[in-house]
Amino acid sequence: TGSTEETFDVVVVGGGPAGATAATVVALRGHRVLLLEKEVFPRYQIGESLLPSTVHGLCRLLGVADEVAAAGFKLKRGGTFRWGTDPEPWQFSFALSPRLPDPTSTAFQVERSRFDEILLRNAARKGVDVREGSRVLGVLDGEDRVEGVRYADADGVEHVVRARHVVDASGNTSRLHGQVAGRRVYSDFFRNLAVFGYFEGGGRLPKPNDGNIFCAAFDEGWLWYIPLRDDLTSVGAVVGPEHTAAIQRDPRGAWRRMIDSCPEVRDLLRGVPTATAAPYDEIRVRKDYSYWKKGFWKPGLVLVGDAACFVDPVLSSGVHLATYGALLAARSINACLEDGLEEKRSFTEFEDRYRREYGQFYEFLTTFYDMQKDHRSYFWSAKRVTDVSAPEAEAFADLVGGLVSGDAAVLRPEEFGERLTAAAADVSEAVRRLSTTGDRRNPLLESTVISGVFSEGRQLQEQALYGGGLDAAEPSAGEVVPTADGLAWTVQG
Ligand code: FAD
Repeated sequence: TGSTEETFDVVVVGGGPAGATAATVVALRGHRVLLLEKEVFPRYQIGESLLPSTVHGLCRLLGVADEVAAAGFKLKRGGTFRWGTDPEPWQFSFALSPRLPDPTSTAFQVERSRFDEILLRNAARKGVDVREGSRVLGVLDGEDRVEGVRYADADGVEHVVRARHVVDASGNTSRLHGQVAGRRVYSDFFRNLAVFGYFEGGGRLPKPNDGNIFCAAFDEGWLWYIPLRDDLTSVGAVVGPEHTAAIQRDPRGAWRRMIDSCPEVRDLLRGVPTATAAPYDEIRVRKDYSYWKKGFWKPGLVLVGDAACFVDPVLSSGVHLATYGALLAARSINACLEDGLEEKRSFTEFEDRYRREYGQFYEFLTTFYDMQKDHRSYFWSAKRVTDVSAPEAEAFADLVGGLVSGDAAVLRPEEFGERLTAAAADVSEAVRRLSTTGDRRNPLLESTVISGVFSEGRQLQEQALYGGGLDAAEPSAGEVVPTADGLAWTVQG
């Protein structure tokens, strides 16, 4: 077959959770979407512990929640931590959050190969033209905007696709993100290395917490312990960069040694063999640096998921940020394609909200890595960071459930149509907090983008994003808010 040139409204690069979400949300509004994925699914990926915002919010909006619920994934009610100064493990339950009525106060531990394939096949069912084995080589640069991409199909034949909008959802190895605002900015704080593998089973925490993620600190870092199936457990170590050489020399040996040096995890795995069937037979090593971009979009090109930003995985926020960020970008694309909003305003909305969500996790994590505190102190930090009016433990559950935005898309998408925009009581307090970010170690909140938000006089809405509840005031006229179906933006009349 020869090379072709085609035209779509939108082309999405990458078929992980971010790409599948962005593509589906645009297709649900009837636009023509092409998704290009270099692998053929199912493909392996790390990031197996999900949040309620993804399972009950985004997945419902995408029309795939029932299929995910029926897939037999391990039910996750919360997390258990051997962390900080508490001598015994402590835990949180998503049910602590009053925003999550039963049965939405749960998530799943998933084999990503299966979960990601469900989202990708759903995208195709919703009208997305999904092409696997299709590697994007670069973007088409127009005079003042990106105008499409070039890609190679499975036979190596190159093709050109023109589109009004390109979404880069190609993950942490993205080769396109440099088109927007230069290089990634790496956190000075989170520069870890992860080494991970699988066991054919393992002990479980006592019911009803047997599906919890268990995170246990040890001398060199921390371990995750994720029950995926009765006969499959994901175990990973996250350690500082000083261990790089030892891990590279002998990944399996280093992984075993770290597990053995953490009694709580070692005891759960006593006598349990490591997995031998692909893709779980390998020990994998990945850089686990936190990073973000100075800008998340330029005309014609928007970054979502790991292509845009990544934060340390201890709170399992990756897929939540990827899918929620993708929804925000897709709303902006839909608003532009439908002449609802001018491009700059539409994508500024996306970027502000995405940064805010990322920033909350980032900021909280800087205090969570202080091991000289106990769980009450972490809960208190969550309340300080999120500004929600709930008690400390509830604030923590809201944050680690991915619920702080108050966006109905992550809470109860079926109720879109009623006004669920979060807002808040005390605007001046929020402004004060954001203008004194200097000592809060959050490079994102110091960025000109965020301070620009305030000079534009949109404090009310930002405060809303920073943690209002559903019992909140109506948005005021002129604010950008989600449309009634949750799939685009509109201006509040
Ligand atoms: P990806 O899932 O990486 O998908 C990107 C897709 O793009 C891939 O399928 C790739 O094949 C494709 N692609 C790449 N280049 C091209 C190209 N040129 N052309 C076409 N296609 C291309 N997250 C959680 O939610 N929970 C966790 O417990 C968790 N644990 C983690 C532990 C570790 C050690 C690490 C490093 C991360 C963890 N994460 C976790 C984060 C999670 O892995 C990511 O945030 C998530 O996978 C991001 O999704 P994505 O769609 O942006 O990217």
